Amino acid sequence: MVIFSQKGAIIAHMSSGEFVSQCTADSLARVAQLLKDGGLVALPTETVYGLGADATNSSAVARIYKVKGRPADHPLIVHIYSMQSLGDWADEIPSYAISLARDFWPGPMTLVLKRSILAEDFVTGGQPTVGLRVPDHAVALALLSAFEKIGGQGIAAPSANRFGHVSPTTAQAVQEELGDYLSDTDLVLDGGPSLVGVESTIIDCTGELPRILRPGAITFEMIEEVTELKVSKSLDKNSDDFKQEGIRVSGSLENHYAPKAKVFLDQQPVDGSGFIALESINTPDGVIRLAAPESVQEFARVLYSALREGDHQGLSSIYIDQPSGDGLAIAIRDRLSRSAKGR
Ligand code: AMP
Ligand code: MG
Repeated sequence: MVIFSQKGAIIAHMSSGEFVSQCTADSLARVAQLLKDGGLVALPTETVYGLGADATNSSAVARIYKVKGRPADHPLIVHIYSMQSLGDWADEIPSYAISLARDFWPGPMTLVLKRSILAEDFVTGGQPTVGLRVPDHAVALALLSAFEKIGGQGIAAPSANRFGHVSPTTAQAVQEELGDYLSDTDLVLDGGPSLVGVESTIIDCTGELPRILRPGAITFEMIEEVTELKVSKSLDKNSDDFKQEGIRVSGSLENHYAPKAKVFLDQQPVDGSGFIALESINTPDGVIRLAAPESVQEFARVLYSALREGDHQGLSSIYIDQPSGDGLAIAIRDRLSRSAKGR
């Protein structure tokens, strides 16, 4: 497996005979071809790193599940180069979904739509819907474009971590998570640290009104403003709706996004534990400060790498003071509440 960076320098070279020396159009065309031939490519996006495969290739997609250790009935998000391809993957697209795509793509937002025949069971987890996103990252977009040029239609890419673990926000974190499971010919592309740091907002667009299935950087308020519709908030997992519809959003499972260390929220930390809080909050005596972000945006951006750092340091517990308020803070608290449930 080869890791290569956006600037072209190889930062790690793992037991493979092949070097990809430059992230040029030529090397991206080769990466796209590798995808077309059924290989896996971990790629940077603005939210977190994804583990990509040709979304129309059942055996390639099956390998994603295997490498992640993910149950096969959990749907994957299909990444596309532009909203031009929406109609290839989805049917009966409501006008509010078009408005959302226009305003927020490329960006950290996934639209769940009625699937077309192109979206087969192996990518939708057998659901009648498909999750679609145009990521806002130069490397991801360049790869999607190169993939399109050779007839590729979309890249299925869940977060590039083992099922239930913390999502990776750097190529090194992908390597740590999946290095043992990827094959010699698979690739990890390095596009630097993810700028958003938490997974995309997932919006169910199959009803009359948009409904948020997973909060993210595209907030409730932003969705209401663009659609001028009443948006329902995150689906309550215990609601009858959820149970009846059998919607499976793996990020909505109770135990998810969990480091090895036990996570405690808004509690007095014990000596020797890790500590994450906004910069304005002082570090209590005897704890190891893992991050001191200045803003909620920075909190989201550094959170997962701070949790990983706690694991690197072999800490058994990490205490986190959660940011308050709306917007992105809701997404952070959503992930943290699951993270605190453990592995
Ligand atoms: P990840 O990229 O690992 O954060 O996972 C993507 C999330 O999108 C998972 O929680 C999926 O279950 C969810 N997802 C993808 N497609 C659909 C869909 N058709 N319906 C509901 N959730 C979806
Ligand atoms: Mg995930």
